[in-house]
Amino acid sequence: MIETKTKKHKITSGVKEWADSSVNLFSGCENACKYCYAKKMAIRFGRKTEETWKNMEINENAVNKKYGKRKGRIMFPTSHDITPAVLDPCMEVLKKLLTSGNEVLITTKPNLLVIRTICDLFQNTFYKNWIQFRFTIGALDDKTLKFWEPGAPSFTERFQSLQYAFNAGYKTSISIEPVLERVHLFSLVRILDPYITESIWIGTMNYISTNVPDKDLKYYKEARATRDPKYLREIQDLFRHNKKIRWKDSIRNILEKDAKKISEKRLSNLMKMG
Ligand code: SF4
Repeated sequence: MIETKTKKHKITSGVKEWADSSVNLFSGCENACKYCYAKKMAIRFGRKTEETWKNMEINENAVNKKYGKRKGRIMFPTSHDITPAVLDPCMEVLKKLLTSGNEVLITTKPNLLVIRTICDLFQNTFYKNWIQFRFTIGALDDKTLKFWEPGAPSFTERFQSLQYAFNAGYKTSISIEPVLERVHLFSLVRILDPYITESIWIGTMNYISTNVPDKDLKYYKEARATRDPKYLREIQDLFRHNKKIRWKDSIRNILEKDAKKISEKRLSNLMKMG
């Protein structure tokens, strides 16, 4: 079980690994991340195209409806981001979720204006305790971030947002999923760690082969290399003393599969010898 300050969460996988339900208000996301699973699904079911995904279309019903108390923690949002352009409706719904007694995990590639607005609004209220920020920061290098997440804030802006929320006394956590750079992972954690009160989630990119047309691009190679079981065992060893680190299902699955492969190979060698 993963402990938070207010309740316990059972580890499962995907969104359920972090929360019990989710809330979304828009179709599309201006960050336009190349690896985005929500985008893939929207394109697959004909709701969007690669070009139109970055246009955020509001779901008025989701904004205007009432939100009651739900069972467990709510993740908000999961299939778009909270950007300055959509801040007002997002704030409206965030207020409804909190005032109905819900614990909210705010997941975002943080924009400083957005984070300031949220922190300042709830600063002297009871609801502050029911918010946890989870900021996605998958790399230190802005060129890498720009390649994979072209519409999202720079590293500096995300780092400033983390510092702002931490200094304002909010619960903070980080998602390094997907890891975008192998070499800088240790430095990334070292820089962010002092501003994290809760957890640091690390995961790899799924479905890489469909993310870039040119498979030889260095960014593609780098993302692919983060899925190497040898590298994953090394980083698990490197971070073994850091109690905030949590491994996402993407990593656990790779390592379980690899361990199975190794034991099958050993068994087959033993049988050959026998
Ligand atoms: S921020 Fe999230 S929802 Fe938006 S494009 Fe990136 S992965 Fe998709």
